[in-house]
Amino acid sequence: MALNKKETSRLWRVNNKERVNSYAKKWREEHPEQAKAIREKFLNSDNGKLYNCKCSHIRRIRGKKIEQIYTANEVLMKIADTNGICPICNKQFTTEYLSLNEPTIDHIIPLSKVSEGYIYSIEDIDIICRSCNSKKYNKVNNSGR
Ligand SMILES: [Zn+2]
Repeated sequence: MALNKKETSRLWRVNNKERVNSYAKKWREEHPEQAKAIREKFLNSDNGKLYNCKCSHIRRIRGKKIEQIYTANEVLMKIADTNGICPICNKQFTTEYLSLNEPTIDHIIPLSKVSEGYIYSIEDIDIICRSCNSKKYNKVNNSGR
């Protein structure tokens, strides 16, 4: 099967995530103003709102092979289901970068409890605000030790 240029580059990025991320980080450090402008523009789009969620998601699964099969649309629909309100604290989500009310992905079965190769679908996640998510993680960490 022949891959076109776009698919090949996407595949490379998927297989070299760490490297791509460190390039991106370096670029952001060298061009803080440009990076900020691009990020803000992106975060105001629907895809950007989702990317926020995915971003924190991917960070936590690093090192453990866990698949995520839900799509951008499914996550956005889940947010729409609750009228953009966090189901735990009932506060309105905001899309401000790293704000306390930014929507984040909550895994109903925590990542630390699932076995290698577990596949998360849209049924396996809740969308909750960053504030509630971090409270939950603190609780899990404290009781887990
Ligand atoms: Zn909340």
